[in-house]
Amino acid sequence: MVKAEGVHKSFGAAHILKGIDLEVAQGEVFCLIGPSGSGKSTFLRCINHLEKINAGRLYVDGELVGYRQKGDKLYELKDSEVARNRRDIGMVFQRFNLFPHMTALANVMEAPIQVKGESKAAAKERAVKLLDRVGLADKAGNYPSQLSGGQQQRVAIARALAMEPKLMLFDEPTSALDPELVGDVLDVMRGLAEDGMTMIVVTHEMGFAREVGDALVFMDDGVVVESGHPREVLTNPRHDRTKSFLSKVL
Ligand code: ATP
Ligand code: MG
Repeated sequence: MVKAEGVHKSFGAAHILKGIDLEVAQGEVFCLIGPSGSGKSTFLRCINHLEKINAGRLYVDGELVGYRQKGDKLYELKDSEVARNRRDIGMVFQRFNLFPHMTALANVMEAPIQVKGESKAAAKERAVKLLDRVGLADKAGNYPSQLSGGQQQRVAIARALAMEPKLMLFDEPTSALDPELVGDVLDVMRGLAEDGMTMIVVTHEMGFAREVGDALVFMDDGVVVESGHPREVLTNPRHDRTKSFLSKVL
């Protein structure tokens, strides 16, 4: 579903991603861990072309991200084409970024109506189901300020799902939450995984990675240091950098 081949990304003189190779299979929960500044968020942003890569190739669902290939040459996609591809990728951030002036229901209805031109009735029907799925059927009429952080994050997940994405990117979705609210959000993510959603999850929740993850990558300083099955990497890290990182977070 996602394939990175020698992906490089620099910001000015700062070389951030230094040749990332990895592959995420359809239906897989792919966890990404690593120290602050190692390039995890940058890599996620490259996947939906919020950042342009400087070298290498990145594919989502078999298609090059941001470019079209003809012969040996690459042509940049138009903004409208990039936007169209981005619709298929849901993203959930550390901060929930809900529209503050809209109810939970309206937040979930918004993109299908605005972006896909869906009817209000159809968007509402789906939004009601999605809020139910994230355990918030009774909060549909609440504004973000009337929801806890964990509830807001679950609305944010429902909002991303409303576009029926084929891939979900999570960037530390629970790290801004009070500890007692983390479990509900992880439960929703676990449910998504069970339903077969392909997910790339940047997280510090090693319990989630161990129980739900199919693959785990440890990234440091813009390279993949180690990857494998989560239980294997977490119990038997091979590299000193991985060992030292895990000793701080486990
Ligand atoms: P964290 O765990 O703290 O979220 P991260 O692994 O997600 O860290 P990134 O946010 O990807 O790290 O940042 C990697 C490096 O890239 C950092 O040194 C950051 O300062 C730099 N960086 C990220 N975005 C930009 C930008 N738009 N312009 C310049 N530098 C940037
Ligand atoms: Mg980050």
